[in-house]
Amino acid sequence: MRKIYADNAATTSLHPQVLEEMMPYLTTVYGNPSSLYQTGAVAKKAVENSREKIAQLIGAKSANEIYFTSGGSEADNWAIKGMCRALKKKGKNHIITSKFEHHAVLHTCKALEKEGFEVTYLDVYENGIVKVEDVKAAIKDTTALVTIMYANNEIGTIQPIPEIGKLCRENKVIFHTDAVQAMGNVYINVEEQNIDMLSLTGHKFHGPKGCGALYCRRGVRPDVLIDGGAQERSRRAGTENVAGIVGLAKALEITLDTMEKRNARLTKMRDRLIDGLLKIERSRLNGDRTHRLPGNVNMCFEGIEGESLLLKLDMAGISASSGSACTSGDLDPSHVLLSIGLPHEIAHGSMRLSFSDDNTEEDIDYILEQVPPIVDYLRMMSPLWEKIKEEERNG
Ligand SMILES: *Cc1c(COP(=O)(O)O)cnc(C)c1O
Repeated sequence: MRKIYADNAATTSLHPQVLEEMMPYLTTVYGNPSSLYQTGAVAKKAVENSREKIAQLIGAKSANEIYFTSGGSEADNWAIKGMCRALKKKGKNHIITSKFEHHAVLHTCKALEKEGFEVTYLDVYENGIVKVEDVKAAIKDTTALVTIMYANNEIGTIQPIPEIGKLCRENKVIFHTDAVQAMGNVYINVEEQNIDMLSLTGHKFHGPKGCGALYCRRGVRPDVLIDGGAQERSRRAGTENVAGIVGLAKALEITLDTMEKRNARLTKMRDRLIDGLLKIERSRLNGDRTHRLPGNVNMCFEGIEGESLLLKLDMAGISASSGSACTSGDLDPSHVLLSIGLPHEIAHGSMRLSFSDDNTEEDIDYILEQVPPIVDYLRMMSPLWEKIKEEERNG
């Protein structure tokens, strides 16, 4: 049976060249970067070269602006909690975010509400895009931070980040973006785009899991995350994940080198898949059709349960998702689909397919061949579908 991995928004395969780059640091070069002897110094150099490389790749001014973390969730938590707690001391207690952020951002904001922060959750409308004028209207004297994701992880919609960055700069408000999903798919330059803080993680672009980074513009200083040793300029203590850091930098380099070619290829595949799936009756594409990640397809099929669709797809060898990996198993429909105005029963019948360099046109052919009969089959047994058809007949 064919095996198709179409859940690259959840995680990606490790690039062989990335593994190769990491290998020495998993084997012979095991010295502690903080130590003075040779093998430690080699490890230290690898960490600092990686920091320099990442800084250059995202358009940062200096390597000192890059802090390594255990991934995207940690970077988001640190950026938001660390910055807001630091600014609370200056009388700022208001946060602006959107309704459809990743839970690493949303749950962090909820936690801060319990500490007395006020949070504005902006609408994302039917197309899944935040309006710059809404951000503008929400900013007030007490606003500590604006945090808006670069691209949504479920529906792939790309946000007007350079415009929001400009607005925040004009209003002297710190701007953080969770760029975990966008990195490697969209042109990102923190200087040009007025981004003050940015989260990224390696495993979304063929790097290792458990290693990410937080960019903090010079002078932007969130509270210390982990007390202890002097690693990460004494702001995030703990012996560095040397192999992970080396892999993160290498993966970022490869993904940005190959971005243009990949985007052209994936956009074509994505659009062909969307057109094909939209031929299924009572189907819909979730999120803006053009302002979306090249590898993201998110559809709803009325009258069926997303979970059963995913199980049938799995039996056909296709790994897909109903949205966010973190909430699968959850019975509530995705907060992202609800945020773009889908009613509960429709949001339940959703499917996300996400592609990477590993996928081919043949994968799209196979998916287009498999999905329609599966949807038909599930609808045949669905009381919900029967009701929909009945309503259709009664006009
Ligand atoms: C995957 C993801 C995260 C979490 O990153 P981890 O490295 O898994 O902690 C955060 N935000 C977005 C948008 C993501 O897609």
